[in-house]
Amino acid sequence: MKVTEIEHFSHRHKLELSYSQKPYRCDGCKQEGFGSCYQCNKKTKCDFHLHEKCAMADPLATHPFFNNCIFEFRKKRKHGKRCKACGKDIRGFMYKSKKAYLHPCCLKLPNTLNGEGGLILNLKDKASSKCLICRHKKISGKVKGWAYVSTCGKHCYHVGCVNHMNFENWGCFNSQQNGGNISLVFIKQESGRKKKRGCCVGCALDLIVNAILGSALQLAAGCVLGLS
Ligand SMILES: [Zn+2]
Ligand SMILES: [Zn+2]
Ligand SMILES: [Zn+2]
Ligand SMILES: [Zn+2]
Repeated sequence: MKVTEIEHFSHRHKLELSYSQKPYRCDGCKQEGFGSCYQCNKKTKCDFHLHEKCAMADPLATHPFFNNCIFEFRKKRKHGKRCKACGKDIRGFMYKSKKAYLHPCCLKLPNTLNGEGGLILNLKDKASSKCLICRHKKISGKVKGWAYVSTCGKHCYHVGCVNHMNFENWGCFNSQQNGGNISLVFIKQESGRKKKRGCCVGCALDLIVNAILGSALQLAAGCVLGLS
């Protein structure tokens, strides 16, 4: 059972586990978020949000890509440091180690995502082929960037590119309630080029964007959540 109300060092009021149907900026890591999050009680109108993973960050963590390496949670930004996973700047909460800096949400990305029709996406520490969004193997000159690669070999997307695409071009994704789950779904564009990519691209992107934003929310019966 999840804790639905917490006290957090970063904010003076109690935070409540709720669901934001609009994109928000996490006041911890300063990255975008959507859906499930810890929010300041609405009455105070603080507009304060934390990703679940930022609110519940463990002081120490490890990651399978870094052997014998301990990551320490830090509250403060680090000038000029980039997240090894998504390639974006570190502007708030982060995990620091000798080998890399990571956003809390990036550190916790699932190793495997399972989609419909046997689609399996595995998290890799670099793209195995060109990313289908930016058309490059590296996310930028210095940063390779992690990628989700499908077992069939047809899909390869940088974690950072999916996230970027989502918010630069808001409207590509929409929230959808499906049974007991709320998640983001990719809206297929009618323009010729995007259509040709095929429907499976949409399925793959849905999986990744929900993993990145931590948005998928299980609405368990009896669980009190503020759905507004
Ligand atoms: Zn965050
Ligand atoms: Zn508040
Ligand atoms: Zn990151
Ligand atoms: Zn890319």
